[in-house]
Amino acid sequence: MDGAGVTAAARVRVRVPSKVNLFLSVRGLRPDGYHELVTILQTVSIHDTVLAKLDGSASSAHPAARRFMDLAFTQEAGPEVPPGPDNLAVRAARQLMGLVGVGTAHREDEGTVPVTRLHLTKRIPVAAGMAGGSADAAATLLALNELWGTELDREELRQIAAELGADVPFCVTGGTALATGTGISTAQVLCRGTYHWVVGISEQPLSTPAVYRAFDEVGRPSEAEPDAVLQALRTGDTEALGAALYNDLEEAAFSLRPELREARDAFLAEGALGALVSGSGPTVVGLAASAQHALELSTRVKGLFDRVEIALSPAGGPEVAVD
Ligand code: ATP
Repeated sequence: MDGAGVTAAARVRVRVPSKVNLFLSVRGLRPDGYHELVTILQTVSIHDTVLAKLDGSASSAHPAARRFMDLAFTQEAGPEVPPGPDNLAVRAARQLMGLVGVGTAHREDEGTVPVTRLHLTKRIPVAAGMAGGSADAAATLLALNELWGTELDREELRQIAAELGADVPFCVTGGTALATGTGISTAQVLCRGTYHWVVGISEQPLSTPAVYRAFDEVGRPSEAEPDAVLQALRTGDTEALGAALYNDLEEAAFSLRPELREARDAFLAEGALGALVSGSGPTVVGLAASAQHALELSTRVKGLFDRVEIALSPAGGPEVAVD
């Protein structure tokens, strides 16, 4: 037990999955500039890992018992991922520190205050429409909540998550969810079965705001309903899911990157049950009928992408391991 009467961990590892949007309808532009969405998100088995450690005496672990703390961040990630305060993992950590009343240590306190060390290992492709940054922010909130013994429940964490980005609350929970509004309010959706995906990754990123801007030029708000996807998930019908996959942002992504349309069409021509751009892209996913089919399909489309991975969905939620 620490000074505040709460047990704190010394080391917490959170493995967090990425997502695909099985359905995404853009309803229109809101007065506040955000787009109104109806979307179905599902976690996919490509994971990032956030490791959180506390250096300092156990008695200083609880933030309520400490006014100041140092935060150190390191990562194994490509140069496109910000290494400092702009990283969503760091922003999540700062947000939580602010909320629980902990300030950053002053220089004169160096060596006397506890240090929270965060280490991010990235496997989720960056700026790829797979919510990589959001997943890292969610993993950080879960890790620090455990490390510091702050005892916020998932709903409280989801509220903090909403301040960090539209996909972050979903990433806190994972599974399969229907999201409406700007994507922040979500409801879990019944999903039977496991789905096999071939994930076509392009190293050249596509900025989400740029895709939404393109949507405002080339796209039209739709009234598409997610019923067919929900029904397919409820019954575990892979073929029906393949036929029902839907994304209003596809045309916008194609207008910026025409080769993505060819990649999507190639998936279909090579026998995928369905294929689409994930979220704002540029990742293109193809749905396979089985693990064996996914393997065959991946070989056939390999030449079209920088990297191809096979993944399963739904991939549960973040897994929190405490040492
Ligand atoms: P979404 O699917 O939610 O639209 P995305 O997968 O398209 O997101 P991210 O991988 O989250 O996009 O990256 C978007 C941008 O966010 C990157 O270009 C990068 O500059 C910045 N970023 C900040 N923190 C991270 C992080 N931890 N991982 C990846 N990108 C990050």
